[in-house]
Amino acid sequence: MPETLEITPALPIPEHLCGEVQSKLAYVDESILTARVAPGGERITLQLSQPADGDVRARLEEKVQRVVTTMVKGAIRPKVQVLEDHLERPVPYHKDPNDELFACRELSQEATGIFTLGPLLTRLVAFFEDRFLELADSFQAEPYRFPILIPARYLERVNYFRAFPHSLSFVTHLREDLDAIDHFAAHAACDQHGALNMPLDAFSKIETLLSPAVCYHLYFALADRPLPGGQVTATAVGSCFRYEAINLTSLERLWNFTMREVIFVGAKDFVLEKREVARQRMQSVFEQIGLAYRVESANDPFFIGEFRKQVAFQSAFQLKFEIRARLPFKESTLAVGSYNYHQDFFGRHLNITLPDGAPAHTGCVAFGLERIAYAFLCQYGLEPANWPAAVRQGFSYE
Ligand code: AMP
Ligand code: ZN
Repeated sequence: MPETLEITPALPIPEHLCGEVQSKLAYVDESILTARVAPGGERITLQLSQPADGDVRARLEEKVQRVVTTMVKGAIRPKVQVLEDHLERPVPYHKDPNDELFACRELSQEATGIFTLGPLLTRLVAFFEDRFLELADSFQAEPYRFPILIPARYLERVNYFRAFPHSLSFVTHLREDLDAIDHFAAHAACDQHGALNMPLDAFSKIETLLSPAVCYHLYFALADRPLPGGQVTATAVGSCFRYEAINLTSLERLWNFTMREVIFVGAKDFVLEKREVARQRMQSVFEQIGLAYRVESANDPFFIGEFRKQVAFQSAFQLKFEIRARLPFKESTLAVGSYNYHQDFFGRHLNITLPDGAPAHTGCVAFGLERIAYAFLCQYGLEPANWPAAVRQGFSYE
């Protein structure tokens, strides 16, 4: 029987931070099954997997208050800037498509945050991929293929450990040791939760992670030298990994998802202009597709300690805009893509230089492929006959 713990936040949580605080509560303790911040920010409700005595409750409450205080104290409400608003675009479907997707085996779940997509979703993803590839072509972006693995020292070099420690996914292998390998072969088994029964010392030290983003690989490939021709435009699709704990629900939030990016590296004006042109081009693509969405300023999901400072910075310099599609069944929105400008952050940290010796600026346009297909189905349903003509025609069923 799950146990409930109600906590009054040490500081009232302003409305604009309720969602952010709630998503971070997922990382407070392994015993938390669900975490909810009341919309007014005056109460936090946790459901726990097991009964908790007074000491356990006190420890949990202390950790929760630490999250609240660190994220809320001195936080300034960032001004949300809306670049496009097509949220009211009429869409015919208002149900939750998840049950139907599972029922017709379009969606199956292997484990938390790990999903298999069936033919309809796969073809829909391919349709959107074609649109994103057309965008990349319109910039004559050079194609790249990046690995799924990324060295720990790369992420260290761009401060990733400090900014996003909670969402990292680590990779290891058995140590090169005949005894350890023989032991593993003879005894490896999963417990009832799916966890391997092997001690950690059977495994090598962690030098590698699963990649959390696509564009980083390009910046590392360009590191420590002058930028060829003074500017680079590239595109790539890749699997990305972000561990989001109990927030990993349905196609909305995955541990393993796929991103298509168009990436710009060069002088400041070049990057900012391309990011804006990309937004304008996608505006007419989304119009043809009939997507109800809004483009508004946003921030990355920095972890608690870095959150306040980084969000203020991103907001002040208008570094991130998200394409937020409407999910009619829950009257909320979901980010299906983002327009990003990193200033010269990667240029400085990775020593990518412009012809005048200054660090290069970078920006990327990133689309979540599972997310866009999901958001589209939330707005138009699973029956292609009800879809806009542009999608029906570009879809390989017909
Ligand atoms: P970001 O680099 O965080 O702006 O991510 C780019 C896009 O990737 C987002 O707009 C989403 O569409 C998608 N994305 C990010 N995280 C996830 C996730 N956990 N599950 C599914 N899609 C995601
Ligand atoms: Zn990127």
